[in-house]
Formats: sequence, C-alpha cells, structure tokens
Amino acid sequence: MRYISTRGNSPARTFTEILLAGLAPDGGLYLPEVYPSVSRAELDQWRGLSYPALAFKVLEKFIDDIPAADLKALIDRTYTPAVYCNIRPGDDSAEITPLRWLEPGLAILELSNGPTLAFKDMAMQLLGNLFEYALEKTGQELNILGATSGDTGSSAEYAMRGKRGIRVFMLSPHGKMSRFQTAQMFSLADPNIFNIAVKGVFDDCQDIVKSVSNDHAFKSEYRIGTVNSINWARVAAQIVYYFKGYFAATGGAGGSNDQEVAFSVPSGNFGNICAGHIARTMGLPIRQLILATNENNVLDEFFRTGVYRPRSNAETRQTSSPSMDISKASNFERFVFDLVGRDAGTVRALWAGIESGAKSSAGAFDLSGGPHFARIRDYGFVSGTSTHADRLATIRRIWAQYGIMVDTHSADGLKVGLELREPGLPLVCLETALPAKFDETIREALGREPERPAGLEGIEQLPQRFAVMDADAMAIKRYIEEHCRAPF
Ligand SMILES: *Cc1c(COP(=O)(O)O)cnc(C)c1O
Repeated sequence: MRYISTRGNSPARTFTEILLAGLAPDGGLYLPEVYPSVSRAELDQWRGLSYPALAFKVLEKFIDDIPAADLKALIDRTYTPAVYCNIRPGDDSAEITPLRWLEPGLAILELSNGPTLAFKDMAMQLLGNLFEYALEKTGQELNILGATSGDTGSSAEYAMRGKRGIRVFMLSPHGKMSRFQTAQMFSLADPNIFNIAVKGVFDDCQDIVKSVSNDHAFKSEYRIGTVNSINWARVAAQIVYYFKGYFAATGGAGGSNDQEVAFSVPSGNFGNICAGHIARTMGLPIRQLILATNENNVLDEFFRTGVYRPRSNAETRQTSSPSMDISKASNFERFVFDLVGRDAGTVRALWAGIESGAKSSAGAFDLSGGPHFARIRDYGFVSGTSTHADRLATIRRIWAQYGIMVDTHSADGLKVGLELREPGLPLVCLETALPAKFDETIREALGREPERPAGLEGIEQLPQRFAVMDADAMAIKRYIEEHCRAPF
C-alpha cells in the first residue's frame, strides 16, 4: 500500500514512512493510492469479531510494512478493557466501543471510554504504540508538536506519556478549554510532556504548528512530528469503529449485512467523518453520513451550498461544544480530493485560492455549479447545524426520555442526526466525549453535576504545569530548542 499526497507533488510513501511525517512536503495530506475494498464474505466473517480482532482485519489492509505479528501485538495491547475502562454502568467493557440503544432504531456508539473521556483516545492510544514501535526500530527520537482545542492535547499526552524516545509539545488556546480539560492536561507531571498555553484561539495554535512544519530545516533538525488529525494513522484507526458500530447496530454476530444504517458525526476538523467516508467507500453499507456542526458551521455550509469558506480566527466563535470550534477543517481536503475525482491539480488550484485569501478571510471556493457537487449526495453526506439552545434542549430531552446523560458535542450530533435521518434507517450517533468534560453546560442544562468516572474526582485541585506564550511561531521554536534535550 502506497500513500500519495492530495496535492500530487510528493513522492508516494509507505505507511511507516508517513507515520511520523504529518503533512506531505507539498503541503497536501496523505491518502492511500487506492482504497482497499471489503468483500461481502469478509463482512460476514468480521461480524462476530472482537474489537482488537476487527481492528487487525481493517488495519492490515492499510499497513503492509509492519510484520503482521507485530501489528497484531500492537493492536491487542491497545484495545483492552483496562485502557477503555470508563464505561457506563451496564456496558460490557470487552466491547471497547459499546453500542447503547436509546429506543429501537436509535443508538449511541460510545467512543469515549478511554483515559481522557473523548473519542480521540480511540486512535491516539494506537498512535502512541505505533510511534514507540517505529522509533525503537530505528533508534530515533521524536518531538511531537500539536495544537489542541482541548481533546486532542490530553488524548495525545495520555497516549505518549512515559513513552521512550518521544516528547510532546502541546499548544492550547490560553484560558479557552474547560476546567476539566485544562486540569487533565496541565496536571501531568511526566518529564516528556510540555504544555504551552498560547494567547489566542485554537486556529492560532494550528497555524503555528503548520508554520513550524513548513520550516523543513527546523523540522528535520529537531525531529518534529505531529499527532493532529491530519495524521493518516489516526484516520485509519477511526475507520475500525464504523465497522464495529455497524455490526452492533445491525444485529451483532447473528445480524445481516444487507441492512443500511446512518451515522451521525459531531464534526470539526473532519477527521472522524472522513474515516466514515472511507469505511463507506470500502464497502460498508452506510446510507447516510450525517455531519453535525455547532455555530462554527463552515462544513455545514459546504454540504448545503457547495461553498467552502473557512473563517478567519477572529470569526471563530467560542461555543459550548469547544472541540468543534474549528473554521478550517484540516481533513476536509482528503474528501475534496475524492470528490473531484482524485485530481491533485484541481485540489492545488482550490487550496491556492483558499490560502491566498486566508489573511483577509476572502479565501473560498465554490463547487456548486460544477459536476462534482452535483454528485455530492452519492457520497451519503447530509449536514446540519446545532446551536447552544439546541444543545441544551437535546441534553435535557435525552436525559428526560432515556435517563442517559450526553455531552455537548454528542448532543449536536443527536440533534442534527434526528433531524436528517431517513425514515426506517437505524441511526447510530457517535458519542465523542463524556459529559464530565463539560460540566458547566451540563449544569446549565440539567441543574446537576455530570457523572464523573471513578479516579477523576478532584483532578482540578492537582498542581498544574504549563508555560504561557504569545502566538508567535519563532518563540515557540526557541522553546522547543531549549527543551528538546530534556530526558525522558
Ligand atoms: C475532536 C472532537 C470532535 C470533532 O472531530 P473531528 O474529527 O475534528 O471532526 C467532536 N467532538 C469531540 C468531543 C471532539 O473531541
């Protein structure tokens, strides 16, 4: 399996070559040269598999330069009930991603049982093990530079803490994460973890990561890598739970692969739903991919109108589903590459328009008149927006009707999913975080504290360790230079 860039001007690479690489040298994102397909016979065989066994089946189609026995061992070590232990009472921890029916035809797929209570642990825990494996083989070190609006950062840090050969430099928007998220990250005392609170919004942080990554000399001298959702291995790992969720929603081990389903996905950087798009392309019977945004509805606008207009950082609103406060969806380019018939020249032209206008926020493209957007429904996508008021109403309704407490992001997905589902189609709403992470909004909606998994009580009282810095790529580079000789 070779990986190519969406911009078409980088040489094809193998999985382990791109594992540590981040963006392709031409500024594009890596994708498989061809998507593997899954036969009907394979679907039948995979139906009854455990999560790690299924993950191996899916991932070996994308990873062919790690010996199968090693890959299997890595996966088995990652997807264990001990790691994904923050389950709801009554769930089976061996499921890793339990499916919970709210009523016939309506389920949530619980993806937030990992150490940081968000779905990002699903991919990040595997990434940590893959990185350590790859670095051990070559005797190299890696300095991970990341940007987070809350969930990616903690997820990356919990996946990389204590790993030999790896340091993490994590940028987050100063004062803009929830208290719980801040405490989760800043209370880590591992010497290989560096938290940097940037005076700005998430997109400022992401811009710094991009700018450092574009400095090829710096990047290679300091062995800079990334764990943001552009990392291909993260997308690949996320494909697995679409299969798991599909099987669980269509009758489990004894069910049938004739049934189509809808997935509803709370979206920001388009990483999660991109994995759904790929699962569908591989042959999983997904009828609808329902994309839900919050008030930062750049992606909803695109799927409704064909216009993609990333907002400026100043136009990005701070909402009560903060992990979706994103106005340049970094993984979206992967889907557009497929949408325009995998024509890298077209992608280059579209993004040249975006990037030239980025400063004035005039950058945009409009596919509405063309042949590609006319076929957008063939990809299964529909989209909608959820606001703060919708979020509160949904959290209240799901609590009152089913006795289940959902977080703000999952509420956005439920709201839009219920609005746009086709009648008769089972709807699986991806639960992307647990309510404990967003207690302020839970209190506002329900007048009570969210349930908090055991062991996380009082996390806000632990001592915190972080540096506050300006949104200045040069200064961040100096910080990395000074700290990248720290012992592990
Ligand atoms: C990251 C995140 C999202 C958005 O996922 P993308 O892959 O960026 O689209 C949604 N909800 C939660 C809780 C998240 O952490």
